[in-house]
Amino acid sequence: MLRRTKIIATLGPATDDPKALDELIQAGVDVVRLNFSHGSHEEHRNRCETVRNRARAHGRQVGVLVDLQGPKIRIERFQEGSVVLEEGERFILDSNLAPDAGDKDRVGLTYKQLPDDVNRGDTLLLDDGQVVLWVEDVRETEVECRVVLGGPLSNNKGINRQGGGLSAKALTDKDRIDIRVAADMQADYVAISFPRSAEDVNEARELLRQAGGHGGLVAKIERAEAIHNLEEIIEASDAVMIARGDLGVEIGDAELPAVQKRIISAARNMDRVVITATQMMQSMVESQIPTRAEVFDVANAVIDGTDAVMLSAETATGRYPAKAVSAMDRICKGAERQRSALWQERRQKVRFNRIDEAIAKAAMYTANHLGVKAIAALTESGATPLWMSRISSGIPIYALTRHVETRRKVTLYRGVYPVSFDVTTTDHAEVNREAIDELMRRGAVRDGDLVIITKGDLAGVLGGTNAMKILRVGEHETREQ
Ligand code: PGA
Ligand code: MN
Repeated sequence: MLRRTKIIATLGPATDDPKALDELIQAGVDVVRLNFSHGSHEEHRNRCETVRNRARAHGRQVGVLVDLQGPKIRIERFQEGSVVLEEGERFILDSNLAPDAGDKDRVGLTYKQLPDDVNRGDTLLLDDGQVVLWVEDVRETEVECRVVLGGPLSNNKGINRQGGGLSAKALTDKDRIDIRVAADMQADYVAISFPRSAEDVNEARELLRQAGGHGGLVAKIERAEAIHNLEEIIEASDAVMIARGDLGVEIGDAELPAVQKRIISAARNMDRVVITATQMMQSMVESQIPTRAEVFDVANAVIDGTDAVMLSAETATGRYPAKAVSAMDRICKGAERQRSALWQERRQKVRFNRIDEAIAKAAMYTANHLGVKAIAALTESGATPLWMSRISSGIPIYALTRHVETRRKVTLYRGVYPVSFDVTTTDHAEVNREAIDELMRRGAVRDGDLVIITKGDLAGVLGGTNAMKILRVGEHETREQ
């Protein structure tokens, strides 16, 4: 059985061993994530190149997602590397303190404007909420806090404000440089961390295009403000990531399940791609099998309709990267066998804006109700298979394209599989037969099966899809009249 939900694995020290990377690809990774919060450009370039080489060796298509660091607000470092804070103690965040001078009383800040952004009465969450501080007083360069939840606190941990509202700009100077590196690497996707509005996404897109990058823009939803501006952010992006780590800290963990469902549904309805991320298999950093709660988390995201599920530390630094991917693979397939994962309510108020969109969605309606075995979308940009994959279905959608960028981009779309196919060099009369032969070679169809092919009258034209053919494999009508 083909898995429809896509798996993203973050690369890191644990996957640098060539054997580990091969196992990861064999276990079924669709997209790798290069986390620009850690590591040098050289490291990321090497990983990108190695992944593409190894994917080619395995005859697989693997997309590359560059994840920008963004304005994560962090404490600086402690003289001793870490301290233990006790409940009720006073602790000062000091933007004037030297980077390595932190102690039990105070620590420095990467974001010098923090005292301008917080007020008495705010709650600050450090290290994803492991340590909680209550702001008692704010002076020019100092935020004086009382420890509400104590515990160990070590170097460079993140700071979030409950309820959001820290004003740091989404794109940092480092991000601007990193966008050029992503363009140079021909990354298939670039993820923006902590965007607040559509403007942040548009700015990143402009910078990426100026640098010659063709990748899709992924907005990470991880700030309270992003939830308020959700529709405009989705509209401005190619994909959104439910970044449950930071988001959960900002809006509270109890809000996360409802927000996850809302984001998935909004993205699908707006014809955008959606990724569910963070701690999906967290226990597998150390363990060879997931907890039951993790099994349910992955399965529920699949049933909610996510395009992709993501692994972070599980593959980047964990002990069992390939096992984490295999576990996800198995659980996604199990969840996809449920009827509730295949059907969703009909879209009643939708108007189609374009002919190719109308064909894509008509093809899905037909496929779901006629019992078609597979769909072959002859595509240039990948737009037709994207529209198709917004409609819930159990039928595989093959994206037949001559462009390697398109083959890599569709690695993220649920139920879409890339196939190398050049319409411009295929005899017009033979296109149907050749397309069906491709599907047969993959074992997707056999004689007697029904298939749908979508294409344009003019082969190789962007946005030109204007026809759908329904064909029975093995019958002579496969030849174009
Ligand atoms: P991160 O983003 O892993 O870059 O922090 C994901 C998240 O916040 O969940
Ligand atoms: Mn984050």
